[in-house]
Amino acid sequence: MNRREFIGTLAVSTPAAAAAADEQRPTGTSAASEPRPLTITLLGTGTPAPSMERQSSGYLIEVGTDLIVWDHGPGAHHRLIQSGHRTIDVTHAFFTHLHYDHCMDYGRLVLQRWDQGADRIPDLQVYGPPPLARMTEQLFGPDGVYGPDIRARVEHRSSLDVFEARGGTSPRKRPAPRVTEIHAGSIVQGNGWKVTVGHAQHVQPYLECLALRLDAKEGSICYTGDSGPSDTIVELARGCDILIHMNHYFSGTEPTPAYRAACGNHRDNAIIAKRAGVKTLVLTHLLAQIDQPGIREQIVHEIQQVFDGKVVWGEDLMRLGLSGSRVSTIEPGQHE
Ligand SMILES: [Zn+2]
Ligand SMILES: [Zn+2]
Repeated sequence: MNRREFIGTLAVSTPAAAAAADEQRPTGTSAASEPRPLTITLLGTGTPAPSMERQSSGYLIEVGTDLIVWDHGPGAHHRLIQSGHRTIDVTHAFFTHLHYDHCMDYGRLVLQRWDQGADRIPDLQVYGPPPLARMTEQLFGPDGVYGPDIRARVEHRSSLDVFEARGGTSPRKRPAPRVTEIHAGSIVQGNGWKVTVGHAQHVQPYLECLALRLDAKEGSICYTGDSGPSDTIVELARGCDILIHMNHYFSGTEPTPAYRAACGNHRDNAIIAKRAGVKTLVLTHLLAQIDQPGIREQIVHEIQQVFDGKVVWGEDLMRLGLSGSRVSTIEPGQHE
């Protein structure tokens, strides 16, 4: 092993070591870019509350040659790595709203992807409501939170040695996520997929809150973001194969009516799923207080009294496959 290889070995993390093994294959044409069945992995099914079992909100969609994250709260990126994916293979990130439990790992995603990607991968495409562009500038811009770190990595010889050992060619570019601010009604077209953006009923007017629906030839997935009961969610989710819905509360235990309006409860979710005519309802954003034996079963049972589709109690790293517009596989999550 020569000195250059040694630096590379020291510098790279495990996912990047895999990338290094693929060195002969330009990223973007790697094995990861062969078309895959449509799958969604639940990265984080928790709330803002600290938990080892449930990280904060995050979802990972494999569709065609793209790897898309929907929300990236604290812990979601750790789960992404646990799921066996590489940071550098993420192509798109969407945010439903900028509550920290949905976006705190944005910095980790952008910086680790940039660092490990060594200028050899396309910029991350990022979509979300305002002020996402300002937040991005305030994180990664020259005067941003990470501005001094980025400058050190772009200019210090030691960092450039590592960058070049990873295959980069100096001068090194700064991270430059391509941000598009979206609103209810926006449509984002990808390669073999389309995301339609809807209105979520949550904490307006302080945050613009959105819901997302992805349609591809294998099927459709709708994610409410955080939302209380809303006709706009019913319309967005209509007829979809999988509806991923916040289930923060056991009905009747919401602290106040304002909480119910912003976050809903399990009976509200049953009615939403029934009205929208979805096939599978996945419950997420689960508080520890309801994530208990007996309560789980009662919630699922009561939802099934109203909604005659399948009800899934979400868990971190659970993976659902879609083909022919039906859920073909559900693999339980496995993590420490
Ligand atoms: Zn949340
Ligand atoms: Zn929220």
